[in-house]
Amino acid sequence: MRIIIYIILIFLLYRIARALLFPKKTPVQQKNEPVLHGDETVFDPICQSYLPKTEALSVRNGNDTTYFCSEECRGKFLRTAS
Ligand SMILES: [Zn+2]
Repeated sequence: MRIIIYIILIFLLYRIARALLFPKKTPVQQKNEPVLHGDETVFDPICQSYLPKTEALSVRNGNDTTYFCSEECRGKFLRTAS
């Protein structure tokens, strides 16, 4: 009857190896990621106003991103910046 013990041992080892290699996926909980969308406001330096980032136009300048409420403000900025 020794073979049964071996089978059980192999089975247990297999289970352990599986658990190590493929950890159980924990139920997907709502990750508390910082909400960056929707609530964030940005500053338009041309007309000195704040607006939601989702509605803003942006201009990248190296590491800086500048946001604008409208094409008009962006145009003004680009003209004064260059
Ligand atoms: Zn503006």
